[in-house]
Amino acid sequence: MKRRDFLKTTSAITSLAAMGGMASLGTIPMATAAIDAGNGQKWYRGALHTHTVWSDGDALPEVVVSMFKELGYDFVALTDHNTFASYEYWREINPQIQAAIDQAKKRGDPIFGDVRETKATVDGKEETKQELRLATFEELSRQYDQTGEFLLIPSEELSRSGKSTDGRGTSIHANIFNITKPIPRAEGELPTEKGIREEIRRLQQVGMDEKRLVAVQLNHPTWVWFDNRAEEIAAVDEVTLLEPYNLTPTTNRLGTKEHESADRVWDIVTTLRIASDRKPVFATATDDSHNYRDFGGSASPPGRGWVMVRSVELTTEAILTALLAGDFYASSGVILKTCEFDSKTKKLMVEIDPKSDTKYTIQFIGTKKDCPLDYEDVPAPNKDGTPGRPNRKYNAGIGEVLQKVEGTKAEYTVTNEWYVRARIVSDRTMASAPTGECTVEEAWTQPVF
Ligand SMILES: [Zn+2]
Ligand SMILES: [Zn+2]
Repeated sequence: MKRRDFLKTTSAITSLAAMGGMASLGTIPMATAAIDAGNGQKWYRGALHTHTVWSDGDALPEVVVSMFKELGYDFVALTDHNTFASYEYWREINPQIQAAIDQAKKRGDPIFGDVRETKATVDGKEETKQELRLATFEELSRQYDQTGEFLLIPSEELSRSGKSTDGRGTSIHANIFNITKPIPRAEGELPTEKGIREEIRRLQQVGMDEKRLVAVQLNHPTWVWFDNRAEEIAAVDEVTLLEPYNLTPTTNRLGTKEHESADRVWDIVTTLRIASDRKPVFATATDDSHNYRDFGGSASPPGRGWVMVRSVELTTEAILTALLAGDFYASSGVILKTCEFDSKTKKLMVEIDPKSDTKYTIQFIGTKKDCPLDYEDVPAPNKDGTPGRPNRKYNAGIGEVLQKVEGTKAEYTVTNEWYVRARIVSDRTMASAPTGECTVEEAWTQPVF
């Protein structure tokens, strides 16, 4: 390791000035934003999980925001790992940062940060290097927020370590939305269920302390290796938002022979919660975007998964209130005209806004009240094939497909089910499908009962 004494700084601070022009995103489809939802409400399209060069994303935040805007998103939460862009942060212009700067210039996005030269003494020799000051949330918000048109929600992804019941290290990641300053990551390993509870509580406490509405989402439950199990999530009442539809190719979303898919984890959680008269959990879809130049299947680009939130206005408070109330659906391409539940007649109605040459199947999924909630422990291997902690295999009647309708419109009346939700599957291939995943456009509505 070389010893570096940074002599401080500054010679030339240069501004990478704004440049005009708009670039195209190639094959990525643009969506129609802010669709009318009736009663003075609109459907707002939002990204709840995104990364920039503030952590391990590969693009400048200016580019990330501008790309999501071009893709037709109405709101974006920048959720860098364990940090929030509220302070002065200089990054060395290494090849990765240079590529990010080049991309911004090529696209014609403004770059807010300055460049400076830093001199350091390394092993007695003087070295010069260039650094870029990364744009802050305030700068981004000033440039991109447009009342009623586009909204940035100040956010962060926190990671903490857990401990599985078999002693294996696990991972607990949670996004907090609507913060004012960076929240440090929590140290120490806790058993997973306790870790989830303490982490969600800790983040919700930030809102209580600052007297502001925050929302917290438990991320990618099946990552790294089925780390957050259904019964652990179900036990923590504080979990209201869950991210089963994280559309990166590495989150084990589809499960294995022995492990539940993230989709089914959500059904088990929902069943366990509602059958014991506790609150449901609402499901989000996200990109967890890290890559903004590689749109291939093994990358994590923007535009694959998002939420459509029903709200009268595009403000952080209104969006978070709707999310916490479950007034939204998750999508990887399918857009709904209607998604209504009549609490008197118990009728769930969905109608798709169809694309040309596309067939749709509407599945109503739920758990009947007479379905036994028992399970058996089945051996389940770790990722490397070694024996892992057993997985709880629940009754197949949990989250079963109750009815399938081909077409663009269907309804289902809840009678003898703990809950019902709709999953809409199309035969249209996603523009940028993650490798090893479902490759068709879908949508997922929230549980009703
Ligand atoms: Zn994560
Ligand atoms: Zn992430």
